[in-house]
Order: sequence, then C-alpha cells, then structure tokens
Amino acid sequence: MPTQTTSKQKIVTQLFATMAKHVKNEPIESRPVLEQLIYAILRENATRESADQAFEALRGRFFDWNEVRVTSTLEIIETFNGALSDAEARAQRIVDLLQEIFETTYSFDLEPLLEVLQKKGMKQAAKQLMRFQAANDYAAAWVMQQSLGGHVIPLDSTALRVLKRMGMIEELADLEAIRASIENQIPKAKGSQFVDLISVLADLHCLEQAPRCSACPLRTACPTGQEAKAHAAPTMKKPR
Ligand code: SF4
Repeated sequence: MPTQTTSKQKIVTQLFATMAKHVKNEPIESRPVLEQLIYAILRENATRESADQAFEALRGRFFDWNEVRVTSTLEIIETFNGALSDAEARAQRIVDLLQEIFETTYSFDLEPLLEVLQKKGMKQAAKQLMRFQAANDYAAAWVMQQSLGGHVIPLDSTALRVLKRMGMIEELADLEAIRASIENQIPKAKGSQFVDLISVLADLHCLEQAPRCSACPLRTACPTGQEAKAHAAPTMKKPR
C-alpha cells in the first residue's frame, strides 16, 4: 500500500532528527563545474566523507587535471586508497570525462559552460550536461544543485533503494517523476543535507543485502522496518 503523505513527512522528520549527527554540519565546498562533475563521480553511491577523502587524495597526488587525464586508472584507484566501491569504474569515468573535455575545449575550464547553463532552464541544462559521455543523471543533477543553485536532488541507486524501503517512492521506473516527488517533500534549503543523510543511513543501516532494521533509528516510521519487526517478533505459545 502506498505510504501516506503524513507518514512520509514523519519519516523525513525522523531522518533529519536522528541522522544529522552523523553528517558534516557545513555547506559543501564550492568548486568549479569541472570539479563538481568529477566530485559527482566520486560521490555517487558513496558517503560525503568517502568522496571528500578520495577527491582530496586526487588533488593532493596529481599536479593538475591534465596529469590525472594521462595517468593510468590503476594509479588513480591506488589514490582512492580503498575509500570507494567500484573504484575501477569511477577512475575510468574520470579519465574519460577529462579526455572528452580536453578534446572538446582544449582546456579544463568549464566555467564558460556555467554561463550557458545559467541562461537555460534546469531541464535544458541537464540535457546539456549529459552530453558528456561520462556524465549521467546523478552527475547532471549534482551540478544543477551545487553550481546552479537549483532545487534538484541527485538520486543514486543507493538513495533509490533506501527511499523505496522507506515507502517514500513507489516505483523505480521513472527517475524524473521520482525526483520531482522527492523535491516536493524536501525544502530546497535542506536538499543537500538530505542527500548526505540518505547516503549515511544507507552506509550505517540500510545496507543493500541485509538492512539492519533492528538498530536503525528510522525503524518506527519506516514500513520495511515495521515489517521486519513484525516478522522478528516471537510468536506466543498457547497455554496447554
Ligand atoms: S528501518 Fe530498515 S529498511 Fe527502513 S531505513 Fe532503516 S534499515 Fe532501511
């Protein structure tokens, strides 16, 4: 049965109340568009802490983005130092993105693109960003939220899994409709923190294979948590 609006609001309230202590209470660092795209590749299906760690390691180890472009993916993976899952795919996407940008602009400056994007509506801006082969829906949404200040909430497969379990979304088919629904429920000022909270919740409790519902602070509001509790409850033996 679809979760009612009031129940969804209860879940959102509990999410902010119980998980906020696990995330950084400071705005995300402002970065040029190119770096936001690279950061989005690191941040997708990862916590902010892990993405920050990998991004800082990249910046610290390599002289500039051109050096990253010509570096082997193996060396980039080593730089992540185990901070991220799917390290090989992420490293390859970063190299591909840098190569594509270099071939199309002969530089690593995407700030002129930002001016173009600012003049377009959010939908057109997203389409333009997704012309980069290595950019996907998440990366485009990330740039729109962080660089264009739009009320756009980047949703990766981890967030979709958690939101589905919590009954915040019903179907996984239409990503645009899902995002519109979530953006309706989360105020713009809290969009960035919401993304942080969901990824930490997924990391600590709402694991892909076996969610730890019994220890999850959302278990009293989350329908999946409630279901798990009902199944775990011992059945009373009838007196003989
Ligand atoms: S109660 Fe279980 S399913 Fe619901 S958010 Fe927590 S871990 Fe995930």
